[in-house]
Order: sequence, then C-alpha cells, then structure tokens
Amino acid sequence: MPIISRVLILGDGAAGTIMANKLRLLTDRKEVDITVIGNSPKHYFKPDGVHIPFKLKKYQNSIKPTRFLFNYGVNYVQDEVTGINVENRNVGTRSGKQFGYDYLIIATGNRFDPDEIPGYATEAHHFYDLQHSIELGNSLDKFQGGNIVIGPSSIPYQCPPAPYEFTFLLDQYLRSRGIRDKTNIHYMYPLNRVFTIENVSNFVEKLFEEKGIETHTLFNVESVNPDTKEVLSLEGESMKYDLLVLVPPHKGQKVITESGLAGKSGYIDVDRHKLNYGKFDDVFAIGDATNLPISKAGATAHFESEYLANRLAHDISGGIYDEIYNGEVACTTITGSGKAITLYFSYDRPPRASFQSKMDYLLKWTSADTYFSGMLRGVM
Ligand SMILES: Cc1cc2nc3c(=O)[nH]c(=O)nc-3n(C[C@H](O)[C@H](O)[C@H](O)COP(=O)(O)OP(=O)(O)OC[C@H]3O[C@@H](n4cnc5c(N)ncnc54)[C@H](O)[C@@H]3O)c2cc1C
Repeated sequence: MPIISRVLILGDGAAGTIMANKLRLLTDRKEVDITVIGNSPKHYFKPDGVHIPFKLKKYQNSIKPTRFLFNYGVNYVQDEVTGINVENRNVGTRSGKQFGYDYLIIATGNRFDPDEIPGYATEAHHFYDLQHSIELGNSLDKFQGGNIVIGPSSIPYQCPPAPYEFTFLLDQYLRSRGIRDKTNIHYMYPLNRVFTIENVSNFVEKLFEEKGIETHTLFNVESVNPDTKEVLSLEGESMKYDLLVLVPPHKGQKVITESGLAGKSGYIDVDRHKLNYGKFDDVFAIGDATNLPISKAGATAHFESEYLANRLAHDISGGIYDEIYNGEVACTTITGSGKAITLYFSYDRPPRASFQSKMDYLLKWTSADTYFSGMLRGVM
C-alpha cells in the first residue's frame, strides 16, 4: 500500500490554483493527496482590471467559477481559513473543520486596507478588483474634463506596472473621447522616480512626457480631503483632483498575523530561494502572501509554483531536487497605441525596458485566455 502524503494549500487564487494543478500533474493520486482551501467562489483574472474601466474587455470573460479550475484529483474545499498552527501541523476553518498536513503551502495573497488613509473610502476610485473597475468605468463615462490624479497610495502593491499601464490607457481613452485637451493627468509615485527600477522609470517617464502626463515623485499619500478635493502627502504637498484613482493600501491577510506567521504587515518571511517559512521544511508561502523583494504578480506565483511543485514531487518520491527559485518574474504592460513592453527579471538580473512592440500587445491582449486555459491548469 503506497504512503499518502497530504499537501494542503491555503488560497484559491493564482498561486494556490497553479500550485495545486502543477503538483497534480507531477504526482500520482494514490500517493499524494492535494487539498486546496479557499474562499473565492469566482476566480477573477485581475490584469483585465486595467481594461475594464475603458470597456476594452467584457468583464464576463475575466471570471470563471473557481471550482472548475482545478485538475482532476485536486480536492477543493470552499471555506475560510481562520487559524494556522505550524507547530501542530493543523489548520482550522470558519466552518469548524480541522485539517492536518505533511506539507503546507500558504497562498492567501493580500488584502486592501482602505482605512489606512482617511478619506480614501468615499473619494478614491481604483481598478484593483472587479467591482471597483466597473464603478471606475461608470465615473469615467461621466467625466468631461478636469484633473485626474493617479498613483499607488503605498508600497508594496500588486503588479507594480499596473498604475502606469492604466495611465497610458487613460490617455488613449481621453483622446478617443476628444477630451484629452480638457484634462490634466497627474501621476504620483511614493519614490523619487515614477517606478521602483531606475531604467524602467526613465523609460516610463519619457513616454509620460511625450503624452503630456505630469509626474509628481516622492508623494506618499497621507489623507484625502473630500471637502477641498485634495490628496495630501506625508511630505506636506497637496494635489487637487476632480477624479482620484488611487491604488488601495495593501496588507497580508489577517489570519497570517493572527496565527503568528508574520508581523503587522501580514507578509510571510520565506527563504528567497527555497520558499520555506523559518525553520520549517514543511511550510511554504508563494504568491502575494510572501515578503520577498520581488513583484507581487501572477507571473511570480507562476514561477514559484513551477519550482515548488517540482521540489515537492521529488521530495515526496524520495528523489533529490537541487534547483532553486531565483526570483524570476516576467511582466507585459500595455504602453498605449497598440503596443506593450515585456520585462524579464530575477534576483540577479534587474529588468531592462528597451522596446515596445505590437507582439507584446497581442500577448497581453490574449493573456486571460492563456491564463485560464494553460497557466492556471499547470501545463505552462
Ligand atoms: C489591476 C491588476 C493588474 C495586474 N496585472 C498583472 C499582470 O499583468 N501580470 C501579473 O503577473 N500579475 C498582475 N497582477 C497581479 C496578480 O493578479 C496577483 O499578483 C496574483 O493574483 C497573486 O496571486 P495569489 O494567488 O498570490 O493571490 P490572489 O490571487 O489574491 O489569491 C489569494 C486567494 O486566497 C484566498 N484567501 C485569502 N484569505 C483566505 C482565507 N483566510 N481563507 C481562505 N481563502 C483565503 C482569496 O480568496 C484568494 O482567492 C495584477 C493585479 C491587479 C490588481
């Protein structure tokens, strides 16, 4: 009778789903039991959030029932994880169930914490979840000109290029409506440039200049004043807006902090090459849930899952896997006018922004199909 190893995955988003499906393809159902606990009945392809406000994509094509996205042989439990005890190898859920494991993979992503910024909840729009993307689209429909202020409210946030991608599409949208000359677009960023990495920042800033987008660096949002319609920074500056598009403050999940796996930020410290948590060689974190100094991106989750699924498959079968995860990420971002740019990077290789191409645009345009049919299924 073969020994069953129990792999428990927490989170049913990009990282949890890719991980479960990849591992299922690499292991025998009789030898490895794979269970995913997650609380999203629908799986939303978040990169479409930059297109939806401009009606460039139908949101109905960006969501699928989560249950049907797992490969045959993956057990999916819809529930909320309420406690994780790594000493006792036990996970508890809202419905009162308890789950043991031999390997635990935490892929609970992150959450938004709009209360961090006074005035945010009533004033700011964003495109970081489906509901808000649709609402932002409705506000844009009514917009007739004025000041639009865009930027991340704090770092880290999901998909670092998404705010500038949105800004390029906004510029294109306003031109197509004939109201670009009545609109000032202000792009603000918390650092002393418009993107974390210098050469990408230079590239983006040049495009911003060409398109007449104004930039405001070292702007760390402190609060929003609904009466004066101003966004205020920690540095003592302020900016007037008619439409405010602010990436919400992000944090790791509460259950992570409450279970003692992370501090207040909620992000889990893992080994940067092996992805295991602390001294535990049976506990891992992947995707946006980690504290790694790399992009919080679906592509990161994809590369991490590739590494971890192979490692666990070897580990469980008694083999040796001596590869490491090296911080690989790839990211394609639309820059307007039917073009996009792809950045590849890893811990040792910073990204280089060199050229925009129509091919990259096509890659991005079809990415929801590629994601649902291939990437999530673990075959890519
Ligand atoms: C606007 C936008 C554009 C983006 N564009 C790109 C892009 O072009 N390329 C790219 O690579 N990435 C992009 N991203 C980032 C990418 O979508 C995320 O990095 C990715 O979804 C992270 O995957 P994850 O599984 O770690 O987290 P998530 O996908 O957020 O999944 C976490 C899952 O865990 C579940 N969960 C959380 N807590 C619990 C709990 N207590 N119990 C049970 N379940 C729980 C959640 O319900 C969720 O389903 C974009 C994101 C946004 C918002």
